[in-house]
Amino acid sequence: MEIQATAYLKSKKDQSIRRFHPWVFSGAVKKWEGEPTDGTMVAVRANKGGLLGYGYYQANSSICIRMLQFGEEEIQGDYWRTPLQQAFERRQKLGLTDNPNTNMYRLVFAEGDALPGLIIDVYNNHAVIQCYAFATYQISEAVAAALQELYQNQLKSCYVKLPDHLKAQHNIENYYVFGDQAQTQAQEHGTQYQINWEEGQKTGFFIDQRENRKLLGSLSKGKKVLNTFCYTGGFSLEAIKGGATEVHSLDSSQTALDELQENLKLNGLEQSNHKTIKADATDYIKSMQTDYDIIVLDPPAFAKSISARHKAIQGYKRLNSQAMEHIKPGGMIFTFSCSQVVDKYLFHSTILAAAINSGRKVKVLHQLHQPADHPYSIYHPEGEYLKGLVIQVM
Ligand code: SAH
Repeated sequence: MEIQATAYLKSKKDQSIRRFHPWVFSGAVKKWEGEPTDGTMVAVRANKGGLLGYGYYQANSSICIRMLQFGEEEIQGDYWRTPLQQAFERRQKLGLTDNPNTNMYRLVFAEGDALPGLIIDVYNNHAVIQCYAFATYQISEAVAAALQELYQNQLKSCYVKLPDHLKAQHNIENYYVFGDQAQTQAQEHGTQYQINWEEGQKTGFFIDQRENRKLLGSLSKGKKVLNTFCYTGGFSLEAIKGGATEVHSLDSSQTALDELQENLKLNGLEQSNHKTIKADATDYIKSMQTDYDIIVLDPPAFAKSISARHKAIQGYKRLNSQAMEHIKPGGMIFTFSCSQVVDKYLFHSTILAAAINSGRKVKVLHQLHQPADHPYSIYHPEGEYLKGLVIQVM
């Protein structure tokens, strides 16, 4: 395949690449031979010239190269084909591709499946491809065709979704490679959800909380539950199905709350003891009654970059501390962070700081994480982004 440019790394900066870490930061590059443009394939060489592998160039990013292949073997134009096949086989092995109760799962999780910048979620025979880089947008049509082959022509639609910055930089738009259906119903643990990839957040649903929702359901019998940052109600529906006496679902988005009502109807649960609350989560928790047995805190990523981390930690601390102060004694909090730049140790110490602040006694009951269809490479710990704790507050 045509290689547009070669990056020579500064001395010692080859070490992480030799250990299969897939990111080259712009500060690690000593010099360029040739001029890469956004999305082009580049070779990566050590200071003394040894070939380390190939990746794509990403303009306007502190991570200027994302590695696609390590070692000296020449890269092929359809380099993505083998990792895609392997990702599919991995989901097959996990029992996800053929589960009558759960027909939505993540098929490709970027670096974790050796396809940086590419996410593919499958919802009941519909695929949503999210491209975070121009390089993955460029292969999206070919990837969709390969997907249709993997699924033996069973896919009804394939939608390509792009972040705003890519649309603006390249004057491109979201598009359907085939099909044009904007939504479908899909199930998780036998619960039906309306999934709307065009209008919904991310690819339409937060598949990554699947196992944690199930855990909440198993602990909800006879409990009064507050589900904050509820989106379309994943945790709420599991709590109701698990026998909660009352469930309150809070989000700042009215659209999300309307979808949640639809989801209750879809499952015949509209008569249940459920209430939606449109509010800012921290504001609500600060002044709410202290009679919830379980509170779920699943905020969006407070920090999207290292520079935003300090402020994000303060946000998590405030939110958690308020929830600890206002939960019924003996109650449980399901608390999460999906910020990649906040690792599990930092998250844990933030919850400790919140506990100290609240003056309550706190026990850790469960340590939660992303499910197996969101794998991460052991050499790329940044891929472990979803952290959660179930704590009991005495
Ligand atoms: N727990 C959800 C996913 C949460 S996504 C699930 O299982 O599907 C984060 C949600 O937080 C989004 O729906 C967003 O609208 C909402 N949100 C963002 N900021 C908020 C705030 N300050 N207060 C309440 N909700 C907020």
